[in-house]
Amino acid sequence: MTARADSKVNILLVDDQVHNLIALEAVLGDLNQNLVRAHSGREALRRLRGDDFAVIILDVRMPGLDGVDTATLIRRMERSKNKPILFVTALEPPPMQEFQAYAAGAVDYLLKPFRAEVLRSKVKVFVDLSLKSEQIREQAERLRLLELREQERKINELDGFASTVAHDLRAPLRSMAAFSEALLLEHATSLDPTGQDYARRIHESAKRMDRFIQDLLAYCRLSREEFVLESVDLDAMIREILAQMSPELLERRACVNLAEPLPRVRGHRILLTQILTNLLSNAIKFIVPGTEPRIRVRSERSGDAVRIWFEDNGIGIAAEHHERIFRIFERLNLPERYPGTGIGLAIVRRAVERLHGRAGVESEPGKGSRFWISLKRVEDAHETDRLHHAVGRG
Ligand code: ADP
Repeated sequence: MTARADSKVNILLVDDQVHNLIALEAVLGDLNQNLVRAHSGREALRRLRGDDFAVIILDVRMPGLDGVDTATLIRRMERSKNKPILFVTALEPPPMQEFQAYAAGAVDYLLKPFRAEVLRSKVKVFVDLSLKSEQIREQAERLRLLELREQERKINELDGFASTVAHDLRAPLRSMAAFSEALLLEHATSLDPTGQDYARRIHESAKRMDRFIQDLLAYCRLSREEFVLESVDLDAMIREILAQMSPELLERRACVNLAEPLPRVRGHRILLTQILTNLLSNAIKFIVPGTEPRIRVRSERSGDAVRIWFEDNGIGIAAEHHERIFRIFERLNLPERYPGTGIGLAIVRRAVERLHGRAGVESEPGKGSRFWISLKRVEDAHETDRLHHAVGRG
């Protein structure tokens, strides 16, 4: 039903007698709405399946499906379950039938001959109500779209700004890193130990800043780029990532246990690589010094989704920080002990959202953490075709 203030609503008139339908049309014609005829209960149900109606006027006595049975079926249909039904009948109904009619969802029960203006004003109430509620629905939808557009504009503006700044910052930073390194490598003899220490600090700061900008750029790209979803073999992917991380794993004497093969998911290779790498790096990093990291990765199916768990034996996180850590730049620990940029988990959350999934954590201080992501599972192991689903922005 279109619903501007000047639009019309549909009114369904159900009667097996054509002269009754004509009489109803004569009474309701003044309302200037679309009057739709149905000559039986079955035809009424068919029409209700195809269109929206503001009100239904239903004859009680009809061959085949009578009015009460028709009303019962109307109430069972999702599209018409709340539509007002006015019963009209020529015969004084037995009390039981009237009771059944109300039980089947009647809002009124009119006996013929009825006064034309009574029927007209009763129907008009429902017409006005229908027009008003449609207007309210449209206004709410317009507001929602405006808010969404505004939000998207702000995010794009901010991300555009951040990536321009980040690009412009990287060039001078690279010079700082290169010249401080040259100072240390080629002119170390002309610097006293304090001078060498200063040059080393400049070099490390420049490197740290560069890593920070790279993370920020990766985060910005996540909201602006279009990603086409495909079927990804998560098991093969995590093995590749672990192979790449093996120097770091060896150095920290970390052990990663893959409980069982991970399933195929609907995803995107770049996004999933970022997600898995960040979660695994954190699981290795946030550990009490001197402890060997023990990480278990397992999956848990639920319907057409799968939840992948990353369980570690690290320092853990207090419940009040479980949401906060997924926000950009939020860090809980001293940078000297646990260096980082505070962007990793923000990337995880945003990347997972671009895959229409979710991410979260269960943890307690001193008892390790269990980070999880949930994604859509791809049933067919051989399905490697692209799924042609562009991931929405933001
Ligand atoms: P970064 O690792 O660069 O500090 P992240 O966004 O990846 O930033 O993580 C945010 C914060 O969440 C971290 O600084 C740390 O305090 C906490 N955190 C993340 N992963 C873990 C983990 N596996 N165990 C304990 N704390 C964690």
